[in-house]
Amino acid sequence: MARRRQLYEGKAKILFEGPEPGTLVQYFKDDATAFNAQKKGTITGKGVLNNRISEYLMLRLAEIGVPTHFVRRLNMREQLIREVEIIPLEVVVRNVAAGSLSTRLGIPEGTRLPRSIIEYYYKNDALGDPMVTEEHITAFGWAATPDLDDIVSLTLRVNDFLTGLFLGVGITLVDFKLEFGRLWENEEMRIVLADEISPDNCRLWDAKTNEKMDKDRFRRDLGKVEEAYQEVARRLGILPEAGVRDMKGPELMQ
Ligand code: UDP
Repeated sequence: MARRRQLYEGKAKILFEGPEPGTLVQYFKDDATAFNAQKKGTITGKGVLNNRISEYLMLRLAEIGVPTHFVRRLNMREQLIREVEIIPLEVVVRNVAAGSLSTRLGIPEGTRLPRSIIEYYYKNDALGDPMVTEEHITAFGWAATPDLDDIVSLTLRVNDFLTGLFLGVGITLVDFKLEFGRLWENEEMRIVLADEISPDNCRLWDAKTNEKMDKDRFRRDLGKVEEAYQEVARRLGILPEAGVRDMKGPELMQ
């Protein structure tokens, strides 16, 4: 028997109707896809870990004043979120060259970029999420200029904060993808961080060895995928060893 009405099923998550108006339940699956869903698989336990990792990062970001859609974690695989109107953009931030940037521009993977670079992709699976510029975004009305200003400043704050947070636990934040939504409160609209932040949408490398600790292990068949996601959670101090109450804080790396 279905507990809640399913509103949307994506590649890694399902959205259900929430318990109160204006809320949704975000369910994290173990399913993994890559290369615009041409490669499909399962990463055992990924949903549980991403639910926790994303909870932790969203809560830390809220503490520094970044508005997010996150309300609270409900159980191992579900979290309660505010319903937002998703802006159809994937906002990618890069600190180190990797992935499509390296392929497209011939910059060797691992090259530190002269400064952080923000890129936009139009969220459209049928088109393979093409890269777009501010011109396309404003001309087609996906976001207005003031919305984009908010998106850029929030993205840079998230990048600065997460870069430091991950470095503190011996991880280089190479690049990541964010999504934003519009939240209406009375007559006011605010841009808030939505979706998830997890090793599914970040490139995370061990700061000493550059070993990959993210979805590239799945994309590139590098093995030890589950272990990598677990190690990220362990370093952040959020891998419960004997249940939910047994959560250590982050472990500082020398
Ligand atoms: N990314 C994502 N979803 C996408 C495309 C990219 O979460 O649909 C993330 C990806 O995990 C990486 C960053 O955005 O951390 C940059 O990805 P890139 O453009 O290099 O593309 P990829 O090599 O992943 O195809």
